[in-house]
Amino acid sequence: MRSVSEYWSSAARRAEPYAPGDQPGGKVIKLNTNENPYPPSPKVLSALREAVGPDLRLYPDPTAAKVRSTAAKLYGLSPEEVFVGNGSDEVLAFAFQAFFHQDKPIRFPDITYSFYPVYARLYQIPVEVVPVTEGFAIRAADYYRSPGGVIFPNPNAPTGLLLALEEVASIARENHGQVVVVDEAYIDFGGESAAPLVRQYPNLLVIQTLSKSRSLAGLRIGLAFGSAELIEGLNRIKGSFNSYTMDRLALTAAEAALEDSEYYSEICQKVIQTRTALLNRLEELGFRGTRSKANFVFAAHSHIPAKEIYEKLKERGIYVRYFPAPRINNYLRISIGTPTEMDALTAALADIVQHPHA
Ligand SMILES: *Cc1c(COP(=O)(O)O)cnc(C)c1O
Repeated sequence: MRSVSEYWSSAARRAEPYAPGDQPGGKVIKLNTNENPYPPSPKVLSALREAVGPDLRLYPDPTAAKVRSTAAKLYGLSPEEVFVGNGSDEVLAFAFQAFFHQDKPIRFPDITYSFYPVYARLYQIPVEVVPVTEGFAIRAADYYRSPGGVIFPNPNAPTGLLLALEEVASIARENHGQVVVVDEAYIDFGGESAAPLVRQYPNLLVIQTLSKSRSLAGLRIGLAFGSAELIEGLNRIKGSFNSYTMDRLALTAAEAALEDSEYYSEICQKVIQTRTALLNRLEELGFRGTRSKANFVFAAHSHIPAKEIYEKLKERGIYVRYFPAPRINNYLRISIGTPTEMDALTAALADIVQHPHA
């Protein structure tokens, strides 16, 4: 709706909400929102079954203490250096409110997660958009000495490109006094987390999610790692908004998922293998993809427009993501599914490529 209601506050008028990928029902092949094709760990499912009981009448632990200490152990940190939120989107929203200012612009890449401009607008944070290179790379030095802080995903979305850990560290080092937020939604698919660096850089906040690599998009669990000072900043915002952002089931599942790293590294390896195989097959079909380190590929065809391919796949019940934005409007972002789903996808693509404009 484009009109304006007299009942809306200035925030509601100003808002330009994020447009999530379609969530179609029924029998489709869903490769458009980067969910994990594999189920959560069996240990998560049995912990959840046990948690469904009379205790649901009680409020959950507002401090998420158990999840924080389990998450802290993954990176040799202490629970005071961990925050838990209702999906990393919520953690990101809290970070915008806790650390960014209405009179100092923050920097993020021109091609990046499209929720950042949405939050910047809602919270009235000015922005300096930094172009990525021709090959979509983030250049660390472009983010040094930002007036009001920095935010970027690593690997970046939707390009999948990974910035080396030393470069991430250099951005934190060269932004003394400003907060640098690294959104590691896809780090488990081929990168190395910056979380252990938060001891060295008290201005570094590392955000992760259990939605992608830990197969729990349906339960909404996000994490942040940072100095106790930054975590306290997030707690101040959260405690002014909703004491219980995490329900009992989400907390139960989060703890079990973070304890079963063995299961999750296995399924991440499967996703990585499928990604390599898919990229090879796409190249044979005339696509050129980025060197993605995420659970999706980002690829353009040599001569058939992405929009046309996107629409033809949709007609066949295969959902991928297409962004009608400058520089990337000839690319498709395709989530890595099971090998069977990838076979169906590449069969459909072979057909579309052989019969264009049909
Ligand atoms: C998926 C995604 C998120 C959001 O994850 P949730 O935890 O499900 O809210 C955040 N950042 C990036 C870059 C993502 O791709």
